[in-house]
Amino acid sequence: MKVAFVASEAFPLAKVGGLADVLGSLPVALQKLGLQATVYLPWYHTIWAPVVGQVSFRFENQTEVASLGLSEHNGVRYVLVGLGDFHRENPYGYNDDFRRFLRFSLAVAELLGEADIVHAHDWQSGLLPLLGRLGWFRAKTVFTIHNLAYQGAWGATDFFAWSGLPGQHYYGSGLEHRGLVNLMKAGISNAHAVTTVSPSYAQEIMTPAFGEGLEGVLQAQAYKLRGILNGLDTDYWNPASDPYIAQNFNLDQPEGKQACKEALLQEFGLPNRPTVGVVSRFAQQKGIDLVLEVVPGLVQQANLVVLGSGEKNLENGFWQAQRRFPQIAYWRGYNEALAHRIYAGCDAFLMPSRFEPCGLAQMISMRYGTLPIARAVGGLRDTIKHGDTGFLFENADGGGLAYGLQSWLGHPNPASLRQRAMQQDFSWDVPAQQYLSLYREVLGA
Ligand code: ADP
Repeated sequence: MKVAFVASEAFPLAKVGGLADVLGSLPVALQKLGLQATVYLPWYHTIWAPVVGQVSFRFENQTEVASLGLSEHNGVRYVLVGLGDFHRENPYGYNDDFRRFLRFSLAVAELLGEADIVHAHDWQSGLLPLLGRLGWFRAKTVFTIHNLAYQGAWGATDFFAWSGLPGQHYYGSGLEHRGLVNLMKAGISNAHAVTTVSPSYAQEIMTPAFGEGLEGVLQAQAYKLRGILNGLDTDYWNPASDPYIAQNFNLDQPEGKQACKEALLQEFGLPNRPTVGVVSRFAQQKGIDLVLEVVPGLVQQANLVVLGSGEKNLENGFWQAQRRFPQIAYWRGYNEALAHRIYAGCDAFLMPSRFEPCGLAQMISMRYGTLPIARAVGGLRDTIKHGDTGFLFENADGGGLAYGLQSWLGHPNPASLRQRAMQQDFSWDVPAQQYLSLYREVLGA
């Protein structure tokens, strides 16, 4: 079976968040099950690869040519689609993102002739299930929602002028939503199967609180919607062999964990006491403002090490907190190696998310014996056993998070929890099988 993955991020080539981790590891796991996987990515200027060909496609009534690059990672082929729009500092965050990813999707659609399954991810490739239904390629389509909050919405006039699709498709093809073209909705409406990255999130998004305005669409498509929990690349995220951390450790030889903690405290000049970490994008979704809210109480009993960037007011908040309290260390930006040192060197890890489609950081921290303190939502609810492998709280406010922190600080035996957290299986073994079954169902095999 040939599966073409289409997405905007894949570790290690381009990463903003968990989507990249999935595209860097699920195709590998599926290849181990005998599938042939190819991943199609925009060719960001940060990726070095040889040019191996080109593809022509229609855009704005003209024929355009994109160069194709080829990269390989753990035996999987990554085809890079070279479009000038992607030579920018970041993968996203530009006013013309809709246009950029529309061009990318139209170019990729010309490359899918061989595929049996096209597996598209999030709005950036949400057009592909519709193109499949319109006969642009023969493959069946699976669409995965990693985050419903970002939908790819834009005016219909531009969309039809750029894509060249007949305007009659505006209604009745799952494109129109609240007066705009919405590529998330198009993906959901036209794919043969839709998945979310955790079972709880699949349920949540059919309600107004989490549906981001698409709950009605999702209810109507519930028959083909299911949640498959993300796995982790457990070779990469492995405290027993991680090259980034001060000393390796595992369940049988746990001493290295203490060495990692000491190294982290020393790196940031922090006092020797319980230490909690945060590694996150600073977005409303992540509830990072709640961490700032509990800082004055937290520093009475623990250190806090924070890695992340995003919303400026939150970055400023941590700069100020760091200046005010010697128990706080803040590193602004993206830093792969430091993320590993935080997962390994902390005692607990905070994820006060308002919503969380799956979340990988809590799984990584459990693997490194660091207890997650997280809101009981989405994938956090599905992966953390309260009082057994971490701590869950219900309320998305400072009081909720403070309660979670006290559950941890007041726990009589966190060492036993740490052990159970490290014993959890977060590999792709089970989820990869679930995707394989889904592909077979979709193919009618
Ligand atoms: P999301 O995909 O919503 O950002 P996840 O928890 O699913 O959240 O995945 C986040 C991934 O990105 C994890 O691998 C985490 O370690 C990584 N990450 C997030 N912020 C940073 C950062 N500032 N530096 C390094 N890694 C980061």
